[in-house]
Order: sequence, then structure tokens, then C-alpha cells
Amino acid sequence: MSAPENQISPLAAPITSLWGVGEERARLLARLDIFTIEDLLLHAPRRYEDRRKFLPIRDLKLKEAATVRGKIVAAGGKRFRKGARAMFECVFDDGTALLHCRWWQAQPWMEDWFTVGREFLVFGKPDSLRPRNIDHPETELVEPSDDEFIHVNRIAPVHPLTDGLTARVMRMLIWRALEKFETDIAEPAIALDLKTFPTRANAVRMIHFPEELTDVEIARQRLALDEFVELQTQIQLRRKRFEASAKALPCGGDNRLMKPFLAAIGFKLTAAQASVLREIRSDLGGANPMRRLLQGDVGSGKTAVAACSALMALESGFNVAFMAPTEILAEQHFRNFTKWFEPLGVKVELQTGSRKSGEDGGLKMEDGKRARPSILHSPSSIFIGTHALFTAGFDLPKLGLVIIDEQHKFGVAQRETLVRKGNYPHLLVMTATPIPRTLGLTLYGDLDVSVIDEMPGGRGAIKTFVRAADKLPKVFNFIREKISAGRQAYIVYPRVEVADTDKDIKAVTKEFANVQKALSPFKVGLLHGRIKPVEKEAVMADFRANIIQAIVATSLIEVGVDVPNATVMLIENAEHFGLAQLHQLRGRIGRGEHESFCILISDQQNEEAQSRLKILEQTNDGFKIAEADLKLRGPGELLGQQQSGTMKLRFGNLVEDLNLIRQARDLVKLHLDFRQTKVS
Ligand code: ADP
Ligand code: MG
Repeated sequence: MSAPENQISPLAAPITSLWGVGEERARLLARLDIFTIEDLLLHAPRRYEDRRKFLPIRDLKLKEAATVRGKIVAAGGKRFRKGARAMFECVFDDGTALLHCRWWQAQPWMEDWFTVGREFLVFGKPDSLRPRNIDHPETELVEPSDDEFIHVNRIAPVHPLTDGLTARVMRMLIWRALEKFETDIAEPAIALDLKTFPTRANAVRMIHFPEELTDVEIARQRLALDEFVELQTQIQLRRKRFEASAKALPCGGDNRLMKPFLAAIGFKLTAAQASVLREIRSDLGGANPMRRLLQGDVGSGKTAVAACSALMALESGFNVAFMAPTEILAEQHFRNFTKWFEPLGVKVELQTGSRKSGEDGGLKMEDGKRARPSILHSPSSIFIGTHALFTAGFDLPKLGLVIIDEQHKFGVAQRETLVRKGNYPHLLVMTATPIPRTLGLTLYGDLDVSVIDEMPGGRGAIKTFVRAADKLPKVFNFIREKISAGRQAYIVYPRVEVADTDKDIKAVTKEFANVQKALSPFKVGLLHGRIKPVEKEAVMADFRANIIQAIVATSLIEVGVDVPNATVMLIENAEHFGLAQLHQLRGRIGRGEHESFCILISDQQNEEAQSRLKILEQTNDGFKIAEADLKLRGPGELLGQQQSGTMKLRFGNLVEDLNLIRQARDLVKLHLDFRQTKVS
């Protein structure tokens, strides 16, 4: 049924091959990313209008969107003040009542287009009923013509448009493309159960010209499933190819270093940490290089898991690289690992943009080919650094394991370059952003996933409050109290500097002095992206030593910073941060035995913003927060730069389609496994 793979589908023909599309229209369509017949056929409607029966103008209801059909009985431009932009107004009549429509900025073409006697379909929300009025409606000319049946007396699609291309023209072009090419829409190579789903060709027709509105979702699911099958095929093939070509380095270890390490760290691993480590050990000793994503909420103890994993590789005689997203974090890890590993005789090296451990500068990074001779002779070492350094020609001999901390800051592409350069070391990526299951199966589909679903005991609880800005004096009194009792605080603002365009958003450079005053005589430090790394590190060192009691910072401190004595987190203009990001910030506190407090300040009156922040008051569960964030903001935020690595989804929805994604995964797996057994 499917077209042979090497034959080019007629759907790949350029859009100009469609009758009615010349240079000019092709240029307009290109703005909508439509270049081929297939692009046009898959240009999904943004809404539908049931035009089998029109609402009488008389029955329009306030603020309820509706489509009516009427003739223009009066039209013209109006200018209220000299020099002001003109307004354009039309009056439509359908025999039941009159409807006024206004455009506040008249366009030159309106005069000739909205002429008395012409009939239009008008869609919009009435903002008044006396007189009946809709501002800026969507309109569509009703013309007596052969193809009128495409546009009225049916459920009509309204597609995303661009200036110069009307809904009517778009609908007509898609109708034509369907008439001519419908039979060329083939079933994909991985066949679906056609008892459950319409054929692909049917689905394409139904998405544009449904018989009933319920057809739309049926068609969308079919087309979405096709997209997910394609995506899963890419993911699973990549994984299979990887497994076929990559031989694993034996890094399972022998507990020689692990035993004394666990005896010295001062706490017992949680059951969750231990169980994740069993999975990792089995990967490191397995036939294929490990590709594992470790999810664990902030404070769940991922660093200890990283350390144990590193020890397994080190015991096996391999070097380890550990990448952090910021210099502060790299330094923090460097300090911890030095404390933990040097007594075991393991060398710990630091590589960041501004600092390198060792007198002669550590690894040679620029030419990438030469490592310091001592590395080659000394027992295995662990290299800790920022990702920038590791991607610039990182070439470490005997690299057995790469650990990436806070994965969501890295792109898929970066992950790949690293793997190729490093001669297939094992890979462990760690993230505190709980990845919703839909994304886990798509974006991270080529990774195995482990979850630390338990927090170490002995932690004080975190209480979260959302407050308006007029409570700030009280809040600062509260912070003073906590500092007097020996605790420390973070105070976070969205900006480094106040922007002219938005003076209401607070910035660290401006607030720093205010906070110093409010908390004096206690000492306050300042941290943001434009401060020199050496100074940043000095501020962090003073904070850790409680020489300074509070830090004023941007979201720079979002990831990983670990100072258990800090128990207060104040975030101003909280509405400017994503939920997941706020949760990360909040994760900086609640790391010690004391009770912690997170205060979110927001003057945002709108209900949505308020209820969004309230989610943080209600739960500390990062997974719930990530799902809520995904629903509210879409996957863009979570995907970030990684989005470029995935295909464009026209019908599939990464927020809602968990079931379809699962079906696609299983279908593809079955198909690929079957193909493999046939070959071998
Ligand atoms: P994250 O998962 O956010 O990276 P960290 O690894 O920074 O968390 O750990 C947070 C804190 O919890 C650290 O101070 C760490 O030493 C401590 N910790 C980790 N594991 C345990 C454990 N099993 N018991 C007690 N404390 C632990
Ligand atoms: Mg961490």
C-alpha cells in the first residue's frame, strides 16, 4: 500500500504546480511555511465554523463568538480628530436585525471591499447589543460562484492566514489540492489499525472538511499518530544504530574506592539512591554504553549518585568528566569531590573558563589533542568543568564516563558532539526538572530513565507563601529575625538592570542598596551574570562561611547551589519566572535541618497568574509542578534550545498526547524488532 521508498511522492511537488498558485501566491504561502503540496494539505485549520445554519443577527449574545450572514447596507470611514487615524464602519443586515462592525484603523482597501450590497459572513464576539456591535470581526465575502459549496452550507475550516491571503482563497486551494492529490496520500510504512483509525487520506480530508465537528478530533489523532510514529522511528533507529556501533568500556568497578567513600560521607544513601546506583552499575558493566537520564527533585541527592558512579569508572581504571552548567556549580562540585576523593588517592581537576586547577593549566583544550603528561601516568582522575570547555575539542584519554549535571541546560546537539568526541564513554545526565512523561518518551526517548523518588531524611519542611508587594516591609522584618537566629537568605529579582521599557520589573543592581539598608548591620552579597567569576566565587565562599548572611541574585543561583544553612528565599516579581524555575529556586532552601520559608512576591492581579503561583503554595512535588507548567506554558520552556533537535509537530501535542505517543512507541518497537529478526 505504501509508496516504494525511493520513489518521490507527487505530494513533494512545489506548490506552484497547483492550479491557481503563481509566483505571488507562492510567496504568500511561503510565509506560512507552505512550499509543497504536502505542506498545504497538512496546513491545519485553526478553527471551524458550522455554516449549515447561521445565527440570526437578532439572536447574537453579548461576548459570545458567533458567525452571522448579512448584506452591507451602509459603510464608510470616519475621522474623529484631525490627523487621527480613520475608523471604518460597516452595517450588516440579515433581515432580522442590523449589526455594526468597526475597525479602529481603517485600511485603504476597505472602502473598495466593503461596499453596499455585498454579502459577508461575519465572525466575532459582540461587545454591545444596543446597537449590536462587533469590533474587528473576521469577515468573508460570499460570492455567487461555482465553488460556493466549499465555503457555505457545511462546516467550513478557517486556516491560519497571512496578509493578502483570505480564508476563502486558502480553503479553495486546499480543496483543489485534495481533489487532485487525495489518492496520492499513502499509508505510512508502519501500518496502523484501520479499524480504529481512518486512513491517512481520509484523515487529511476530514481535518479540513469534516462532516461533523466530532470528525476533527478523530482526524487529528490519526495525523498526530503518524507524526509520533515518525518521531519514534527516528529515536529508536538512532538508538539501535548507536548500540550496533558502540562498544561499551567495562566500568563496573570493584568497590575498592566505593566502600571507604560510603563510610566517610557521613550519611547513608536513601533506598532510592541505592536502587538507582544498582541500575547504573549494571549499565556500566553491560554490553552497550550507558545512556541514562537521572531525574531527581532538587535536594534528592543526585551529586552523591554522581560521585558513586564516578568511583565505579575510576575503580575500573578510566577517567571521568563531570560537566556543570555554571562556573559556580562546577566550583561547588570541585570542592565536594576534592574533599571526598583526594583521601582515596583520586585526582580531582577543575576546568572552567576562568579557573583551572594545577599550575600548568590542566588539560590542553584548544588543540584538543594533547593532555597533560601527568594525566597519562597518574591513576584515573575526574575532571570537573563547565560545558563550554568540554565541547571545545575535549579529548581526554581513557574517558570512561561523562556525567552532565542539570541536563535541561544542555541541548541534544551538545550531548551528541560530546559522545562522538569521547569515543563512546558511558553517559549519565542528571536533571532536577522532572520531565513530563510525554517528553520523556519523545525528546529523551533515546535515554533510559532512572528516578530518585525519595528525599533524604532529616530535612526541615519548606513553607511557601504568595504575597503582594505591600507586605515587603513585614517580609524583610521576618528575614531579619531569621538571620538574627543564625540563618541565611537568598533574595531574587528577575533582572540585572532596570529596563526603560518595563520599570516595574525589579533588578538586582538597583535593589542591592535597598536590601543592604533593610538588613543592616548584616552583610549582603550580590550575584548576577555580569559579575566576574572570581568575584562570584568569593561571594559564594563568604556566603558558605556565613560571613555574609544574604545574597541578592538573579536566577543565576537557580541550579544546584547547596548551602544548608540558608533557609529563606524571597523572590520578587515572581510572575516573571516559570513555575519549574521557581521550584528550582526554592530548592536552594530546605537543605538543612531547619524549617525553611519561600516568599513569592507578586502584584499581578490577574487570576491566572495568581492561581499559577498558588500551585507552589500547595505542593512541593516537582513532578506535579512540571506537569502544571507544561499545561500552562506549553513545552517551549522545557524544551528550550533542544527543540531544534526535534521535528515540527503540526497535529501532535506534546502536552496532551501521552496515549498516542505510547502507541507510536510500541508500534515502532514491534516493527523494528520484527525487521531485525527477519534480517538475522
Ligand atoms: P540535588 O539532587 O539537588 O543535586 P544534592 O546532591 O546537592 O541535591 O544534595 C542535597 C544535599 O543533601 C547535600 O547537602 C547532600 O550532601 C545531602 N544528601 C545527599 N544524599 C543524602 C542522604 N542519603 N542522606 C542525607 N543527606 C544527603
Ligand atoms: Mg545538583
